[in-house]
Amino acid sequence: MKISDNYSLLAHNTFKMQVSCRRFIELERPEEIVSLAAQHIFEQPFYILGGGSNVLFTRDYEGVILHPVFKGIELIKEDEQTITLRVAAGTEWESLIEYCVENQYYGLENLTGIPGLVGSAPVQNIGAYGMEVKDSILTVEGYLLPSVEPICYSAEDCRFGYRSSLFKTELKGRCFITYVYFKLSKEPHFNLTYKALSEELARQQVKPTLENIVRCVRSVRDSKLPDITQIGCAGSFFQNPIVSEEQFEQLHQQCSDLISYPAANGVKLAAGQLIDKAGWKGHREGDAGIYPKQALVVVNYGQAHPEEICQLYEKVISDVYNKFKVLLRPEVNII
Ligand SMILES: Cc1cc2nc3c(=O)[nH]c(=O)nc-3n(C[C@H](O)[C@H](O)[C@H](O)COP(=O)(O)OP(=O)(O)OC[C@H]3O[C@@H](n4cnc5c(N)ncnc54)[C@H](O)[C@@H]3O)c2cc1C
Repeated sequence: MKISDNYSLLAHNTFKMQVSCRRFIELERPEEIVSLAAQHIFEQPFYILGGGSNVLFTRDYEGVILHPVFKGIELIKEDEQTITLRVAAGTEWESLIEYCVENQYYGLENLTGIPGLVGSAPVQNIGAYGMEVKDSILTVEGYLLPSVEPICYSAEDCRFGYRSSLFKTELKGRCFITYVYFKLSKEPHFNLTYKALSEELARQQVKPTLENIVRCVRSVRDSKLPDITQIGCAGSFFQNPIVSEEQFEQLHQQCSDLISYPAANGVKLAAGQLIDKAGWKGHREGDAGIYPKQALVVVNYGQAHPEEICQLYEKVISDVYNKFKVLLRPEVNII
């Protein structure tokens, strides 16, 4: 493992916050977590960081950051229709997508273009273009912290929900994920329920294949989301809120064009539309802003300080609440 003290996190958070941590530990093997426990590392504040694409550091982190760098994709089981892959936490998500396209494995293609590492994917049950990673996850392996008790959870144990799981709720910050097992199909089957994706396939006049879907998803994403090599952000900053049927009816009278989706416990609204209707889309305060092409995304145009980002997102939450009585919650992990 590699240990660095007073380490800058600038290259480790896509929001590009200029913060540092007291100690940064890169784990080259999963078992190293056990020797860290023997050194009493977990008796001080610690945080597990993947690619840093779903975090907002609000200040320097006065503790230890654990960062998995062990990578690898292993085919561990195969039958006529399916395969099971064991993927190490430090593997880039996009290299898993590329591996699946190369080998013609179906099930993750709509999730192309999501930054980050495989170990983080179960944490918020990443989702995009009508697909959620939970539908392809078989099991998740790791260690509970600080006890370093090994765990192996089935998808059901993980209690996946919309942008949520056991790892973002009860076990938040207390489970170091080492491997994710995916069950994928060798037979073509596609999820084209998301309108923007089917429209893009039609626009490009191509048939649904793995390659075409990946290309179309990437092109739709590029048209809506900032290029994180140029503009700091953490993707969708806010979760889409779920309101009761009753509240939805009231809101619908206020705005007849309200976008809504059925949800298990009510009606899911598009947070971006509410932010847009409240007049925040494209708003900029110094280097902090609301992305002009997608109001869900809070951006750092260059040198924004964490406080400026926080002031802006808090203003958005309070204004949307005043106008619609809908409470937006950050999807991003605020540290
Ligand atoms: C431009 C952009 C677009 C995005 N689009 C999407 C999208 O379409 N859909 C979507 O769902 N998300 C999206 N995201 C959010 C983000 O990319 C995903 O949530 C991603 O899975 C985060 O991966 P990461 O490795 O960067 O995680 P990090 O940001 O490093 O961590 C995220 C959370 O996971 C925890 N964690 C990380 N690694 C581990 C581990 N090994 N064990 C246990 N816990 C761990 C962290 O403690 C933290 O709570 C987007 C982000 C950006 C910047």
